[in-house]
Amino acid sequence: MAGYHRPVIERTGLADLGTLIDEARATLPGVRLLLDPADRESYRRDETAYLEAGLPGAVALPASTDEVAGLLRLATRHRVPVVPRGAGTGLSGGAAGIEGALTIALTRMNRILEIDRANLCVITQPGVINAELKAAVAEVGLFYAPDPASYETCSIGGNLGTNAGGLCCLKYGQTRDAVLGLEVVLADGTVIRTGGRNVKDVAGYSLTHLFVGSQGTLGIITEATLKLRYAPAPRSTILVFFDTLEAAGDAVASMTSAGLVPVTLELMDRETILAVEDWHQLGLDVTAAAMLMVESDAPGPAAGEELDQAEAACIASGGRSIVRSADAQEADWLRQARRLALRALERQGTVRMEDVGVPRSRVPELLRAIERITAAHGVRCATFGHAGDGNLHPNLIFARDDPDAAALTRLVRDEILRAALDLGGTVTAEHGIGSSRREWLPIQQGESAVSVMRAIKNALDPLAILNPGRVL
Ligand SMILES: Cc1cc2nc3c(=O)[nH]c(=O)nc-3n(C[C@H](O)[C@H](O)[C@H](O)COP(=O)(O)OP(=O)(O)OC[C@H]3O[C@@H](n4cnc5c(N)ncnc54)[C@H](O)[C@@H]3O)c2cc1C
Repeated sequence: MAGYHRPVIERTGLADLGTLIDEARATLPGVRLLLDPADRESYRRDETAYLEAGLPGAVALPASTDEVAGLLRLATRHRVPVVPRGAGTGLSGGAAGIEGALTIALTRMNRILEIDRANLCVITQPGVINAELKAAVAEVGLFYAPDPASYETCSIGGNLGTNAGGLCCLKYGQTRDAVLGLEVVLADGTVIRTGGRNVKDVAGYSLTHLFVGSQGTLGIITEATLKLRYAPAPRSTILVFFDTLEAAGDAVASMTSAGLVPVTLELMDRETILAVEDWHQLGLDVTAAAMLMVESDAPGPAAGEELDQAEAACIASGGRSIVRSADAQEADWLRQARRLALRALERQGTVRMEDVGVPRSRVPELLRAIERITAAHGVRCATFGHAGDGNLHPNLIFARDDPDAAALTRLVRDEILRAALDLGGTVTAEHGIGSSRREWLPIQQGESAVSVMRAIKNALDPLAILNPGRVL
């Protein structure tokens, strides 16, 4: 695939992967090593389209913290760059391969170690899949909130690495808001613990929050203590259809200013509605220009009241043909419309998903900007996203054999990112800088802030062993 984001290895010294492998075989017999090119190939990419990724020189699958520490000690000794990897569903190239480097995949560290009801927390290894963690704690009446749309396939380690968002951030926050403590292996193999089961803890700098979202550039997370809640009421859902995208954006802004905090407030545009309906025939209104999905998990009659208020705000902004779930099962079914969005679009071509965010009141302006920019370049775009968080995913869709796709993606993407920044927003709300948006970090944060980040990176990983060329 033609691409343009070439991973850069910014490090000095001579890497010696061959000796690392020999020593890993001798001293870490429990670590599974994949050296066959076909096996390594499947660790080359994450889910980012038009990203040029390298073939790992080797892939290591450790089963314990000690093994991760042993691997990082060897990587430091032999100056071998390391890519930490979860399930590889990332959308910024953070877990994509670096040519000749060692990828450490945490998938075998997939045990839930303890569900602590008394302290409302769960202690887990990073390779556990988000949906499995949710299901395990639900069995004892508890709830793990972070809910990326990829929850059935992405790992907790990857969620921590990216500070993943998802469908219920409006009410419950991003992954970071659910983290109490971590065990982290640093680049030289040192193991540290941050935080713990305490709800309140202000002893020193908040290292826990520094590692969350650092995309594997500061350390490898080998254990996490995550906050749980008592299970909320089953969700009630409405879908509201609009004749213009702008009207849907206005409804989001008016719900926000009315102080409504539904658990989910998601938007899909016409292209997305058509793609989902074409694949799954859920009965969505294909004549509409946009759809909002609003969910409430408030207890008892409060859910109906919350949705009534949301419905009123939508109607005042031009909403029509409202569908309301009759029970929890129907609510689940309606939610599928949104969860299927990316895969439905991928049936139609290669999809490059972007991840811009703006202050919530500016969602209508961002929608207008995305429409204007993509129309000006004649690029097909389907937009959906977490509108209640001000976070939209414009998806640029190209024929699979389009020779101009990579170049056009860059052009259109850059204009959309610029538009988001001009609205006081961010170039990435939940997927991360990774390797695909690297040049935009100093533009958004400014050189001074980036030099603080670089100082932190240099303090923790002076040889640039961990995920070099990502984020910074
Ligand atoms: C269909 C689809 C829907 C999606 N929906 C959402 C969504 O709603 N919200 C959202 O935020 N994202 C979403 N994503 C993106 C992706 O699923 C998330 O970023 C997810 O958190 C990645 O998890 P992963 O296990 O696949 O991590 P990977 O892609 O393997 O890794 C992601 C990053 O985390 C680092 N990392 C992985 N494990 C560790 C570890 N143990 N220690 C330190 N660093 C680590 C990696 O180096 C990399 O930088 C979606 C993706 C797809 C394909």
